[in-house]
Amino acid sequence: MKLHEYQSKELFSKYKIPIPMGIAIESSLDIASAAEHTGLPLVVKAQVLVGGRGKAGGVKVAKNLDEAKQLSADILSMKIKGIPVKKLLVEEAIDIKEEYYLAVTVDRDNKCNTLIFSSVGGIDIEEVAQKQPEQIVKLQITKSKLQSPNNLSIPDQIIESLLKLYFDLDASLAEINPLVKTKDGKFIAADAKIIIDDNALFRHPEFAGQSSETEEDEIEAQAHRRKISYVRLPGNIAVMCNGAGLTMTTMDEVKRAGGEPACFLDIGGGSRRDFVASALEIVSMDKNVKGIFFNIFGGISRCDEVVLGIISAFEKIKFSIPIVIRLTGNREKEGKELLSKTNLISADSMQDGANKIVALVK
Ligand code: GDP
Ligand code: MN
Repeated sequence: MKLHEYQSKELFSKYKIPIPMGIAIESSLDIASAAEHTGLPLVVKAQVLVGGRGKAGGVKVAKNLDEAKQLSADILSMKIKGIPVKKLLVEEAIDIKEEYYLAVTVDRDNKCNTLIFSSVGGIDIEEVAQKQPEQIVKLQITKSKLQSPNNLSIPDQIIESLLKLYFDLDASLAEINPLVKTKDGKFIAADAKIIIDDNALFRHPEFAGQSSETEEDEIEAQAHRRKISYVRLPGNIAVMCNGAGLTMTTMDEVKRAGGEPACFLDIGGGSRRDFVASALEIVSMDKNVKGIFFNIFGGISRCDEVVLGIISAFEKIKFSIPIVIRLTGNREKEGKELLSKTNLISADSMQDGANKIVALVK
């Protein structure tokens, strides 16, 4: 679960990581009262859960109130990487002398947590990582050893606080970019990004209320509220299977057949009619979907029962797009017999099904 900058900064503040004075607003009408709080000049920052807001024009400095009003209205009407800006963080502008990068994250290759530091932080850090990897320091971190490496040119207290926050919150990322040094030598977190490990959210009821608000995609948010394992993708073929591995393999086959998946949707085990209907409702919200491919493996859940679930779900939700179903495994014959009485298109193999649905949506 990604937290917004303003939410991440509230947490920084709790952990005594210095942040600029700031306030989140949702309307440019609130800019005057925000400015009383921050003073002038101030920075207006789009609160969207994507990186590169600065380069996209979503972070701007205003010298006076008129400019602040104009900029906040402009940014609130923007979309950044397709996401509409609904909130702004208004902050006191900082007099930046140097920009550092500091983060704690998971190093999957080395199966450890890692502290990442660079003295050339800021908006071009990705480029630095690519072109000047020697400018980036990576250190393995263990939970039992939280004291900071004291050879970095930033205060130990900030490193230690960030490490503590990272472990306390079960984060998979706690990032400050840039961590700025001001002209008078103070260090302040000018940006903040925290990602909480979804699998640990049960340990953090404090984030429960935030989950829908931090969701980027309205359809994904709906699906997650319904406890459906769904990821929206840019293509036009909805891929629905029972089991995550099968769903991923099926997406690969759709691609191999020349198609583009519109989603990853794991309907899980069982044939619960209401659940399948609910999942189809989610798929129907995405107007890009031009066809559906069900790839069902009958194991403990029997093919015929899954088909009954799908058929009755279609009685509830009417679709006028092609639907291909491939069944294999337990009670496959009975399932196919049920299918033959409908206008759902049966496929003999995963490849056959992928080819059929790709041809049908063309
Ligand atoms: P990002 O582009 O989404 O990572 O957004 P950031 O919050 O990192 O802002 C982008 C850039 O704007 C930073 O790297 C800074 O150079 C600049 N910036 C952010 N806050 C301030 C500020 O208070 N004063 C000044 N002068 N620049 C700022
Ligand atoms: Mn940044």
